[in-house]
Amino acid sequence: MTPHEPPESALYRTLLESTRAIPWKIDWATATFAYIGPQIEDLLGWAPTSWRTVQDWADRMHPDDRDRVVNFCISQSQSGVDHEADYRALTTGGDYVWIRDVVHVVRDLQGNVVSLVGFMFDITERKQNEHQLLQLQQELQELSFRDGLTGVNNRRKFDAVYEREWQEAQRTGEPLSLLMFDVDFFKSYNDQYGHVEGDECLRRVARALQQAAHRPRDCLARYGGEEFVLLLPGADASSARAVAQRCMQEVAHAGIVHAASPLGQQLTVSVGMGTALPGTQDDSKRFLETVDRCLYRAKHAGRNRIEATA
Ligand code: GH3
Ligand code: MG
Ligand code: MG
Repeated sequence: MTPHEPPESALYRTLLESTRAIPWKIDWATATFAYIGPQIEDLLGWAPTSWRTVQDWADRMHPDDRDRVVNFCISQSQSGVDHEADYRALTTGGDYVWIRDVVHVVRDLQGNVVSLVGFMFDITERKQNEHQLLQLQQELQELSFRDGLTGVNNRRKFDAVYEREWQEAQRTGEPLSLLMFDVDFFKSYNDQYGHVEGDECLRRVARALQQAAHRPRDCLARYGGEEFVLLLPGADASSARAVAQRCMQEVAHAGIVHAASPLGQQLTVSVGMGTALPGTQDDSKRFLETVDRCLYRAKHAGRNRIEATA
């Protein structure tokens, strides 16, 4: 207790200085600290006596936060509006602590700003949690677009990318090619080797197809059980055919034995292929159906082959 302090004032001081929030007061006319709680030293290392001016406060703020926070607090204070701001405060050790400063503007009877009083709260833990939550959300979103079995894009992701690329092709006049794959005689593969091996087989097929897709915008997705699609933005018919052939080669190179397959006891895929130059009137769904019909033709023509739109 300071000498000659009235008892109720001592009570308030004890209360203020024993909370985890750090109280402070700034004299508006001189822009100097009239008071700052001693807890500030525990939190940041700077002694209360070293907080003299508003400039000290601004100097001990992370440079990336400084302009935003100082300008905001000054303009709010000038207009006499209570406010709060989050920023990183510098410690004597050179680290930063996230602080939420809650500010009340004190005005005289004429409405002139006399002083600012407020509390600083240590919100480091909250900020860390927010950061972790954000990361988790991003990971979840990423996962929600992946096929759980093979790790390639799932149907949901493909649908979104397909619509986007279709519109992009409409805008630029560039071609858009699409390959659709279906594993041949996969039911008998499962019957022969079991579902666990069947799953592993799908992973190997996905890896093989992924290897054949070279451009960053190429989008491979698992479309259904043993069906995959590969979207090739900007690819004309002849480069799409080259990619389709590479896909079949990669699957062959994977060397997946399928003893029950009548096609040389090796696992093979059938491919439907199409290239579109989407005009404004053209329908993206109809193009998908056209390519799907090509795949159907490849099946009926004996499998292990590519059939393209006319
Ligand atoms: P086709 O050459 O005409 O395509 O014959 P198919 O046997 O490949 O075609 P069908 O549609 O008769 O069988 C597909 C099989 O794929 C049936 C299904 O059990 C299997 N399948 C679908 N999804 C999965 C999966 O996630 N894992 C496994 N192991 N099998 C799957
Ligand atoms: Mg199928
Ligand atoms: Mg099949």
